[in-house]
Amino acid sequence: MALVRKTGQDEFFDELEVMPPEKRKKYLDQKLSQTVTYAYSHAPAIKEMMDRAGVSPSQVRTVKALEKLPVTRKADLIEMQKKNLPYGGFAAIPHEDIERVFISPGPIYEIQPSSIKWFAKSFWAAGFRKGDVVINTFTYHMSPAGILFHEAIRDCGATVVVAGTGNTDLQIQIMKDLKVTGFVGTPSFLMTVIKRAEEMGNNFKHDFSVKRAWFTGEMLPPSLRVTFEDVYNIATSQAYAVTEPGGAIAYECRQQSGMHLMDEYVTEIADPETGKQLGPGEIGEIVVTPIHNETWGLIRFGTGDMSSYITDACPCGRTASRITGIVGRTGDAVKVRGMFVVAKQAEQAIKSFSQASRFQLIVGRRQHRDEITLKLELADAGDVTTKLADDLNQKFQDTCRIKIDKIEFVEAGTIPEEKEGIVDERTWE
Ligand SMILES: [Zn+2]
Repeated sequence: MALVRKTGQDEFFDELEVMPPEKRKKYLDQKLSQTVTYAYSHAPAIKEMMDRAGVSPSQVRTVKALEKLPVTRKADLIEMQKKNLPYGGFAAIPHEDIERVFISPGPIYEIQPSSIKWFAKSFWAAGFRKGDVVINTFTYHMSPAGILFHEAIRDCGATVVVAGTGNTDLQIQIMKDLKVTGFVGTPSFLMTVIKRAEEMGNNFKHDFSVKRAWFTGEMLPPSLRVTFEDVYNIATSQAYAVTEPGGAIAYECRQQSGMHLMDEYVTEIADPETGKQLGPGEIGEIVVTPIHNETWGLIRFGTGDMSSYITDACPCGRTASRITGIVGRTGDAVKVRGMFVVAKQAEQAIKSFSQASRFQLIVGRRQHRDEITLKLELADAGDVTTKLADDLNQKFQDTCRIKIDKIEFVEAGTIPEEKEGIVDERTWE
């Protein structure tokens, strides 16, 4: 069972969660160094990648030194496995010792040990304990989600209802009959369940016992979170999980202000173009290296998800840095004056003003400097004010960390629907 340390702040699943920053740095450097050395001698794909990069394991002794190695992405994994079935040279143990194989779309064949304990931290932080009856609505087929979350819920002492996906009406009956207290799944599925239960004549708040919910796999919109928490009294938590590097990478605590990084991975926020590590607050790609998985030699897996991290102390007492949510995909990001602007994030900032209708963010170049022009249609032409332009620019700067150079209000219907978003007009001759 879990090692739990009680403090005035929170109950922790293990000691790693509260390591002082200096100790964490040493810990991660040391585990990473061991991982790289091990993977180099056991996973042929890693030896090949490092030899090609001209980097020996002894040159990767710190997290910072990881920058010397290239980022491997999903498309690379698919290609490498296709050429070298079944595992593309990433298996770091003899094939007969492999316990389980998961299949991700691609297909990508991933192998994993059964002794993963660290996922439980996420469910523990969400409040799952012995006595809880938890319905797991993630699939148990092919994907690692069902079984790995199942085991993690068990590691917190709770009972698991093996539900899997689909069968909404039956899931509702199960939840009512078994007095399910915990839900594990996507936010949209929980909302579907609640709505359907109400259509069937139930009062969800009174006829059901769901007290907490744990989500991953999709964004939890703030408005939906408020509905779960305030209308239905369901405490919500979310985690960031990626299947290829082996699972749950970061998780929320009760503060609900960013997701703490797990110490079983080295997680970098890197420039998707150069692979260089970025600092706190800078938006880049989440790049993950598992350092507690000796079956699978994956180093610097590029998730394609864009985020940033903060190092500020969290009131919960956990000391790991937090990622601040997924703001979009690398393909939707444009680098402007050294900062990545993600289309979805820009849209969120601009559309948070009710007056804003369609927009175009045009990135141009003037006197060797990137320049951003916002063309904006308003719901009502009478809304045009200097104050609106200033407020919009401030909000944009707070969200995207970069200033718009020029805001032009244009007539409704000027911007075609399919042309909404970021337009990169720079040429580099
Ligand atoms: Zn926290």
